[in-house]
Parts: sequence; structure tokens; C-alpha cells
Amino acid sequence: MNEKYDVIIIGAGPAGLTAAIYASRANLEVLIIEAAVNGGKLSKTYEIENYPGIESISGLELANQLTAHGQKFGAKLISGEVTHVTGEGLKTVALADGRAFDCKAVIVATGTRERTLDLPHADEFTGRGISYCAVCDGFFYRNKEIVIIGGGNSALEEALYLASLAAKVTIVIRRDVFRADALVVDKVKANEKIEIITKHVPASLQIEDDRITGLNIRNVDTDEIQTIPCKGIFPYIGADPCTEFLDPSILDEKGYIIAKEDMSTSIEGIYAAGDCIRKDLRQVVTACNDGAIAANSIIKHLK
Ligand code: NAP
Repeated sequence: MNEKYDVIIIGAGPAGLTAAIYASRANLEVLIIEAAVNGGKLSKTYEIENYPGIESISGLELANQLTAHGQKFGAKLISGEVTHVTGEGLKTVALADGRAFDCKAVIVATGTRERTLDLPHADEFTGRGISYCAVCDGFFYRNKEIVIIGGGNSALEEALYLASLAAKVTIVIRRDVFRADALVVDKVKANEKIEIITKHVPASLQIEDDRITGLNIRNVDTDEIQTIPCKGIFPYIGADPCTEFLDPSILDEKGYIIAKEDMSTSIEGIYAAGDCIRKDLRQVVTACNDGAIAANSIIKHLK
């Protein structure tokens, strides 16, 4: 017999934890299942300064507060990787380690996973020259030269953080415009330690004595190659939704979950919230919004 819950929330990021607060405050039995780090992407973000009411907070601190808050009203939080959600009516959520739980409704709040650098030897040097987490690994590059690839909010916000540690930060973008918000673009342009190279893409790693010593980049107009000397490379080239374990009928062509206004999907009993759904604006505040709506829809449905 599987343990039974009213709601199982898959993912303990801002969307899942907010859903847990709302559902457990309505006296529902809630289980949250997280495959990696509580707080999700937030825990790897240096600073949040666009969450209303909190002018500035470290991502890790907000992640910790949300994780505690998410469990405050009785929701249970466990680690595990969900591999299947099955069943009509009552749902069964199966985990990679063989455990399974039953519930009346599921909220998928699994977020996104960073895209990795597609270059020869990139996997080999991940963790020793290539990093996807400035907050975790920035310290190792103190007073060294760093390259950041990408021009979105993640790339530019982490560039500002890394510039406070590194000797120099070079941002390489493939177009001549940034995807990030104007405010952060202005801050980056005003930072004397940051150089911006436009219209270039990564071509290969420069490796000497089994260490990264530079990144070769290619001009997208002329194909000319130049080398940026560096000890560390931080790719922030976007992310893909963590939705592989779901029925493809509820996903769009990029793998994002198609959720209705009430966060339900076309499969009864499966709801979705946060960065893993198809939407325009991926922010902590919009993830929390989705989580609250998903929980409220389930509360109304179960009543
Ligand atoms: P993103 O906004 O999708 O930006 C990805 C960047 O990488 C773009 O500059 C893109 O270039 C570039 N890129 C993609 N593939 C590439 C490749 N193969 N080679 C070189 N460059 C490549 O991703 P993100 O910055 O991770 O942000 C994800 C979402 O989270 C966004 O919705 C973002 O707004 C949100 N977010 C918000 C905040 C905040 O509000 N504080 C912080 C972090 C993230 P192109 O522009 O040419 O496509």
C-alpha cells in the first residue's frame, strides 16, 4: 500500500513551496518531492532584487526561508526523483528508487535545467574550469580572468557578482543585443571590470597541461577565431523544462507544460506551476503566483 496524500507537489522551488503553503494552510495533506536542491534555481542565484517587499536578498537566503515556510503548515518534504505519474482519478507518483505515493492531485513545479556547453571536452572540464553556478564556484576564480557566455538575465546578473571577485570578466554574446532587462544591462556596461564581445560564439576550449587557459570564439559574420585567455568559463545559455517524465500530450513543442489559467492541464488531476510551464515571464514572483493559483484550484476542486 502506497502512502496517500491529498496533493503531491513535484519540485521545491518558489512555485512548489508556495503551492505547499496554500494547500497545507487549507488543511490538505501535502507531500513535496525534490530531486536536487530545495529552493531550486533560486538557491544558485547571487542576489534577488525584484521580489516585491524585499529590496535585496541573497538567492540562497530566500530559498532557505521559502523552504522553511513551505513546511511550516505541515507539508512533508522528501528527496527523490520522480519518474512516472500515472492513474486516472487517484494518481500514483513513482520515484527512481522504487518508492511510490498516491494522491488526489499533482502539481508539477519542476522548473528548468541549464543548457550545457556543446564543445569538445566541455563535460570533462565541468567542475574544473567550466561552471554553471557562479555563487558556488566563483570563489575559485578570485583575481583570475573569467568568460561568461550568454546575454540573458542569468548571465548578466552572475557577471556582476563574478566581477566583484575576478580580475576581469568577458561576456560573449552571439547577437549584438542582450536578452536581459535594461537595468542589469546598464549595470554591466558601467562595470569597468566587464568587457562585452558581441556577435561571437564559443568555438573550442584552449587547454594546456590539462587545464583551461582560454576560450576560442568565432565571429558569426566573418568566421574569424580569437582567443580569450581565461581560467574559468560560465555558460548561461538558457534552460530547458524538466518535464521528460510527463505524458507528452500536455507539453508544447519545446517541452513546456501547457497550463490553463487555473494551472490545470488537459489531464485531470495534474496541475503545473512555475518556470516549467509555457509562459512569457519567468520570475520568482510569477512562480509564486502560479503555485498559489494551482493550490487554490485544487482546494476548490477537492471541496
Ligand atoms: P535566456 O533568457 O534564455 O538567455 C539565454 C542567453 O544565452 C541569450 O543571450 C541567448 O542568446 C544565449 N544563448 C542561447 N543559446 C546559445 C548558444 N548555443 N551559444 C551562445 N549563446 C546562446 O536564459 P536565462 O538568462 O537563463 O534566463 C531564463 C529565464 O529566467 C528568463 O525568462 C529570465 O528572464 C529568467 N530570469 C530572471 C531573472 C530575474 O528577473 N532576476 C534572473 C535570472 C533569470 P540569444 O538572445 O541570441 O537567443
